[in-house]
Amino acid sequence: MSKMQSVRGTYDLYGEAKRKTKRVARIAEQVVEKYGFEEMETPIFEFTEVFARNLGDTSDIVTKEMYCFEDRGGESLTLRPEGTAGIVRAFVSNGMQQDLPLKIYYQGPMFRYERPQKGRQRQFTQFGVELLGAATPQADVELIAMAYEFLEKLGLQGQVVVELNSLGDAESRDAYREKLVTYLRENYDRLSEDSKNRLERNPLRVLDSKEECDKAVVENAPLYADSLNEVSKDFFAKVLKGLDILGIKYRVNNRLVRGLDYYSHTVFELVTDKLGAQGTVLAGGRYDGLVEQMGGGPVAGIGWACGVERLAMLLPEIPEKESPVAVVPVSDDMNEEALKIAQNLRLAGFRVEQGYSGNIKKRMIKADKMMAKAAVIVGPDEFAQGKVVIKNLKDGQQKVVNIDSLAEELK
Ligand code: ATP
Ligand code: MG
Repeated sequence: MSKMQSVRGTYDLYGEAKRKTKRVARIAEQVVEKYGFEEMETPIFEFTEVFARNLGDTSDIVTKEMYCFEDRGGESLTLRPEGTAGIVRAFVSNGMQQDLPLKIYYQGPMFRYERPQKGRQRQFTQFGVELLGAATPQADVELIAMAYEFLEKLGLQGQVVVELNSLGDAESRDAYREKLVTYLRENYDRLSEDSKNRLERNPLRVLDSKEECDKAVVENAPLYADSLNEVSKDFFAKVLKGLDILGIKYRVNNRLVRGLDYYSHTVFELVTDKLGAQGTVLAGGRYDGLVEQMGGGPVAGIGWACGVERLAMLLPEIPEKESPVAVVPVSDDMNEEALKIAQNLRLAGFRVEQGYSGNIKKRMIKADKMMAKAAVIVGPDEFAQGKVVIKNLKDGQQKVVNIDSLAEELK
């Protein structure tokens, strides 16, 4: 295979596709900044430990999907497969415990060795948020509301549903795990090999399996809701009530668990039916144990991340930005005059194209091809009197105007 092509599962983004991902990122920034989140940038690679220990060593990401490599100094490093572990690592290593509550957003490429398909890439972009040091259900409501507003602002209301579930606190989780293990043991023969292994090490993960045989078993597994203790039930009820108050429609999905070890209480996904099996465009949850596990003390956390390319696929076409003004010298003799006029227009805020060659007819054809809305034609006779010609390229009308009032006229 030729090496002069992009690696499987990676893409060159340009034109329409890039305009769409850019819009997703811009709108996300606008929305989350309104809620008081500030951007943080962490390295694209970390010590492998940061992910291996904290995402759980039986998770799909850690067992199958990480891009690990040894650097020249013999350190084991990993290209980040997700954002939360790096942010929490930064929180701990920069000693940011004085700054709580802390609202952070991040964006950038993530890397996972997965089977590429529509909406599933090996390098993809996530935009995510983390709220550290807020342990109340109001925080969960606020984060879900923020995600919802973001998708609304993208014009996706009606195409995306909020699904959520509660995994409860540690006590509820242990109680559930026990019931689940009993059930899975009874159905041991029907499980996939992976899930047979998970059964011993991390049975909850079986609920998240994408294998058909596992899904069939999971269908009748005990429900998480039946194992929640009073504290956890109360917490979840408050989250749902908050969403009701804000008029955010949701669906409680008893089967929803998240693939990583660190979640507790609320987990949620925003799901569309437009992308087939890759329908989850945004996902998140509460991870109250993670910061402590990473050595940062007992700090509650909650966050979400969205797949920027997946969201971009749902957007309608975005035309190129506003059409330019073309500055066209009638001949090479007028190039320098045209150069100055073009620059002044740019300083006045116009989008300007220039730099044509050939006779005036050829130059005008090029201006048309650039989809210019108007041409500023710079000729020696008019210029001597401090004037240029404006030609409206939509209706062909021409007008001689003073160079001094050119910007005014073009508006
Ligand atoms: P999935 O179940 O689709 O594999 P996930 O649970 O692995 O998703 P998260 O780790 O929660 O995904 O990542 C958050 C979001 O990032 C996902 O909801 C999705 O929109 C996006 N995402 C995850 N993996 C990929 C990928 N390989 N290519 C493109 N987008 C992705
Ligand atoms: Mg995945």
